[in-house]
Amino acid sequence: MASETLRLAVPNKGRMREPTLRLLREAGLAFEQTERALSVKVRNADIDLLFVRTEDVVELVADGVADLGITGLDLLEEACRPPASVGVVLPLGFGRCELTVAAPREAGYRRPADFAGLRVATSHPNLTSGYFTGHGVAVEVVRLRGSVEVAPKLGVADAVADLVSTGSTLMINGLRPVLPILSSQAVLVGECAGAGTTTELDTVVTALESVLAGRRRRYLLLNAPREALPVINALIPGLEAPTVIPLAEDGMVAIHSVVERDEVWNLLPRLKESGGRDILVLPIGQLVP
Ligand code: AMP
Repeated sequence: MASETLRLAVPNKGRMREPTLRLLREAGLAFEQTERALSVKVRNADIDLLFVRTEDVVELVADGVADLGITGLDLLEEACRPPASVGVVLPLGFGRCELTVAAPREAGYRRPADFAGLRVATSHPNLTSGYFTGHGVAVEVVRLRGSVEVAPKLGVADAVADLVSTGSTLMINGLRPVLPILSSQAVLVGECAGAGTTTELDTVVTALESVLAGRRRRYLLLNAPREALPVINALIPGLEAPTVIPLAEDGMVAIHSVVERDEVWNLLPRLKESGGRDILVLPIGQLVP
């Protein structure tokens, strides 16, 4: 396998496609984006991208057609009950949603037991029946491939187990989230056994990780009087100690550091108060620690 081209299965359409391709590009892979081609060669690495349906990714990795894939954790868990030959190599932080049991607003269901004997429509039948069985509750799972949320209105089911991100689709259909089954996000998946680990595979994982690490952080630059350094250092621990460079202006220094993106909001006014000026906050493309 060492000299073989690595095959990475990615969604060919749907909500996962664009964020996946953006991630691969930011990780440094150069490739053409076509609507039709099933397989696209990466120009600057020994990698083929296989464009497939999001729900087929796990099976293609399990069958060895692809070495790695990007799909939703919900689809991995739905497909892998049992046997779990494919597992999560890296959570990717986008495509977040929750597989949720939801019921018509007017029904007062609250606990798993309240659904006993009811028909629950879902495109995740394994996860749904596993959830209710785990709670010792027998329900009738009605498998639907899409538009799960309209099932109660159509009289096809009494409740649903559906993917929810904002909750607006449920609301529009008169449904209310009742019980969480699974928190999902996009994941990089691969063979659990890991026997196929190659340099190229490690490179892909490192490159994707570096983009995610970069997205969580910002590069911070500021100028400050040298005597403000101890206070500013305490505010911005950074990855390691910040870089401090003397400026031509006497007694002034430039401070460079990497900070958590979510801390920037609180940090800026405190840096100003501490004597910081000319503060720049820059995005980080990739960060390899
Ligand atoms: P697709 O059907 O190709 O658009 O992709 C469906 C996948 O997108 C699901 O299996 C989830 O992993 C993910 N996803 C993220 N948010 C949502 C949502 N609100 N509804 C449905 N799928 C979502």
